[in-house]
Amino acid sequence: MPRTFLFLLLSLSTATAMLAHQAGTNPQTATQGGGDQMLDGIGETSLVARYQFNGTVEDSSRNQLHGKLVGSGVFVDDSGRRVLLLTGDGAHVQLPANALAGEDAIAVVGWLFLPTRATGPVFDFGQNAATRLSAWVDTQGFHAAAVVDGKVAGETPARALVDNQWLHFGVVLDPAGRVLTAYIDGARAGQATNVSATPAQIVPQNSANNRLFFGRTQDNAAPTLHGRLRDVRLYRVALGDEPIATIRRNATAAAQSARGRGGAPEISIANIPKDSPFTGRLTKVSDVTIETAVGMMPHLPAFVPATFGGAAGSVRVIWPSPTDNTSVLNAGTFVVTGRVPGTTFEPKATVVVKANLPAATPQRLLETFALDRVTLDKDAQGRDTPFTKNRDKFLKGLAASNPDSFLYNFRETFGQPQPEGTRALGGWDSQTTRLRGHASGHYLTAIAQAYASTAYDPALRQNFLQKMNYLVDTLYDLSQKSGKPAQPGGPSVADPTAVPVGPNRQSYDSNLRAGAIRTDYWNWGVGFISAYPPDQFIMLERGATYGTQDTQIWAPYYTLHKILSGLLDSYEVAGNKKALDIARGMGLWVQARLNALPAETRIRMWSRYIAGEYGGMNEAMARLARLTSDNRFLATAKLFDNTNFFYGNANHDGGLAKGVDTVRGRHANQHIPQITGALETFRNTKEMPYYRIASNFWDIVNDGYMYSIGGVAGAKNPNNAECFPAQPASLWENGLATGGQNETCATYNILKLDRQLFMYEQAPKYMDHYERALYNHILASVAEADAGNTYHVPLNPGARKSFGNANMTGFTCCNGTALESNTKLQDSIYFQSADHQAVYVNLFIPSTLNWSERNVTLQQVTDYPYADTTKLIVKGSGRFDLKVRVPSWATRGFFVKINGRDEAVKATPGANLTISRTWRDADTVELRMPFTFRLDHLVDQPNVASLFYGPVLLAAEEPEARTDWRKVELDVTDISKSITGDAASLRFQIAGVAFKPFYETYGRHSVYFQVAFK
Ligand SMILES: [Zn+2]
Repeated sequence: MPRTFLFLLLSLSTATAMLAHQAGTNPQTATQGGGDQMLDGIGETSLVARYQFNGTVEDSSRNQLHGKLVGSGVFVDDSGRRVLLLTGDGAHVQLPANALAGEDAIAVVGWLFLPTRATGPVFDFGQNAATRLSAWVDTQGFHAAAVVDGKVAGETPARALVDNQWLHFGVVLDPAGRVLTAYIDGARAGQATNVSATPAQIVPQNSANNRLFFGRTQDNAAPTLHGRLRDVRLYRVALGDEPIATIRRNATAAAQSARGRGGAPEISIANIPKDSPFTGRLTKVSDVTIETAVGMMPHLPAFVPATFGGAAGSVRVIWPSPTDNTSVLNAGTFVVTGRVPGTTFEPKATVVVKANLPAATPQRLLETFALDRVTLDKDAQGRDTPFTKNRDKFLKGLAASNPDSFLYNFRETFGQPQPEGTRALGGWDSQTTRLRGHASGHYLTAIAQAYASTAYDPALRQNFLQKMNYLVDTLYDLSQKSGKPAQPGGPSVADPTAVPVGPNRQSYDSNLRAGAIRTDYWNWGVGFISAYPPDQFIMLERGATYGTQDTQIWAPYYTLHKILSGLLDSYEVAGNKKALDIARGMGLWVQARLNALPAETRIRMWSRYIAGEYGGMNEAMARLARLTSDNRFLATAKLFDNTNFFYGNANHDGGLAKGVDTVRGRHANQHIPQITGALETFRNTKEMPYYRIASNFWDIVNDGYMYSIGGVAGAKNPNNAECFPAQPASLWENGLATGGQNETCATYNILKLDRQLFMYEQAPKYMDHYERALYNHILASVAEADAGNTYHVPLNPGARKSFGNANMTGFTCCNGTALESNTKLQDSIYFQSADHQAVYVNLFIPSTLNWSERNVTLQQVTDYPYADTTKLIVKGSGRFDLKVRVPSWATRGFFVKINGRDEAVKATPGANLTISRTWRDADTVELRMPFTFRLDHLVDQPNVASLFYGPVLLAAEEPEARTDWRKVELDVTDISKSITGDAASLRFQIAGVAFKPFYETYGRHSVYFQVAFK
């Protein structure tokens, strides 16, 4: 590849950004993530379970993996706290089989008190005596061991203990470092090295045989523990020395206020020089001039023209990213200085601030096609595609699912009997989980979409229709009970704002335990529907924070958004009218409550971490307004304005509406759906700030916060796998969290934003991102043989994907959106202009479009991406524009043949190509877009990059976990000279290392490499 080309490739990166060096960053960056979700500096996504043993064996983490006390264990007072006492008589605690299942690393920490000369097992996690991870105390002291298939993979040397005092213990199995480490009182007590055992071998995914105990071993006859336990925690990351010391230190009274850094040991970056791989060849970087209106921060170009060894290209620039808009409050001109990472270049941007810069209100010029208008086909060779495969995995699971499981918590909430044999869901829908009902909302959407997408299989379609109607009928009947007397003449409270405290309670609470949950639905106001009573909504208004105590909540409006979206989809996608009636009733309930609140209360609610997470409630309300023509719902949508995020403050001085980056450090998926909601609000109101919020957010996130797979989130700073890094353009410095990155539901939501923005502005950048994230994250998030799917998709060296919920019985947020993503894979292949004069071909996926407005069928036949060509066959006739996306990566030409003859076209990478013609039946259009290898560099560390071939991200297959970044050496003039392999199967090699599409990777992988040129 010519050198100039390399630099053009740079400009294709979506990971483009600005870097801030200003003081006074968004104050929430520092504070967000305090409390339970940031226990001892470790983000809660790393925490699997926490057993405080202060009177129960419940898990106080959000996963609610409650233990079971077997035998005569008791809780006793010990120095002012309740602790668990086991007396060596067989009593122990058993954990659910799915705790720790399939994790990539395991850390166990907790407090242990041993009476004089007491011994026994502390914990034993595994399947049987031959395969387990355990820790125990014998006469020599404290040991930990990992055993697989009867072979000891590692055992730590004994560490003598002092009895009759509380000791803090830790055991960490770290497959990346191949070590098993034991800790006592915050310091290493012993380590076994060269440990080949992995947690997933010991506690496999989806195994009912997993047995996890505190206080006993796998051996039924062995003695049990005589001792006391408290605050035992399970983590899914390999905690290092420092976080373990921090956990212990923070538990001692003197250090309660100290907040240490947490997390797993960092991947070594010391050996990677922080300079540009292009140093010495970059000879010129251009300055730029940008206009903006008074008050609006300019969007400075991520890439500027540059010269490399005499050839033109472009280069990534990091510009300052102020945290307010004070620099543009007056008309005038000023200059800002950027930098090219790893070089001494400092390009200038002249910003011209104009008092009057005309801006047209964007028009929604395109329409999507309903799901039943586009069918996914097999490829040109008759093979199933990654799309049909994933679709079918989910359709199979959904067809076999039992709707009663998804209705379980709703029926229980309303005090209604369950149909014989119904089993509740697990995961975040288990009995005491304060998010229960969220999966049912995703399920409603998925069933509606599956119904709309399966016209090709009438039996399957009937299955989904029956499920949808049954779900909606049941929810309708429950919703009709709320706020009305249980018996004629009985008491009731119809007013949603007058819901009283539950019977026999002192205050509102979130107690959902079986038998304790309130079920007095006649008191809940008319229209209420949820899988828990109204208390969490009311507690949020009164300041409740996120957590697992009865005085705390999870995210009531988040859950409700899923349910409302499911109902609206049942109506809009599948035509169920009753579903709209339920949504309308609940919409009015929400309107009544929020209308009664002062603005300051709402501002506080929506800025509260997780508790105030409302998904896309603004989107659901704006959509309800559109579907019912009732503008009360549009007003309600605006009540969800997240003022600080959208507008900077209550005076609307800044924020996204003014182009200020308020994304820094925020929880990603708490905020992304708020943006699609802002855009939906714009669709109805035409109020420009809502549009600017959406388009500015898109630019800020794409420039500064995106990983190469098209996903976001996963920060070292703040230390939370679900948060955006604290500063833009700092994925290397602040991103790449050891606990994982790329929460899959966040990408689901960004894809929604891509397509919705494209309706207004046909900028190919939106569909370029859509393709990037669809292939390299959404397709890549599903298990090989079943509907198991990912939460985070980690991109650390040697990481692997963890697929959960294969049997659809225990959902996280991402398991929920996976149901939706995989039942609508066809939804953005084609769009049409609102006047039906043009059809957009955005994606190159084997499929058939029924363009009924024009009586035309468009069939797309292709092996893409296992070929760089596609063929469109027109069935029908008429004059219309075919608008084809020319991918931004298609820099080696884009060639068109019509009816077999070459057509001279002027195609520009990253633009739509219009083919205007009076089409005749059986006309064919063949498109060829040669794939090339290209690098996608981390913005703030260009030496670290991902490798793409055309649209496909290539991952290196890794035999085992790693603690360093794989080095890849490439030819400087043409990187393809260093790569061999087979484009038809997308299998490649570089210096003996195998690469394949990330979406076909199921073992360990490396996605980012330390790149050197030779
Ligand atoms: Zn998620």
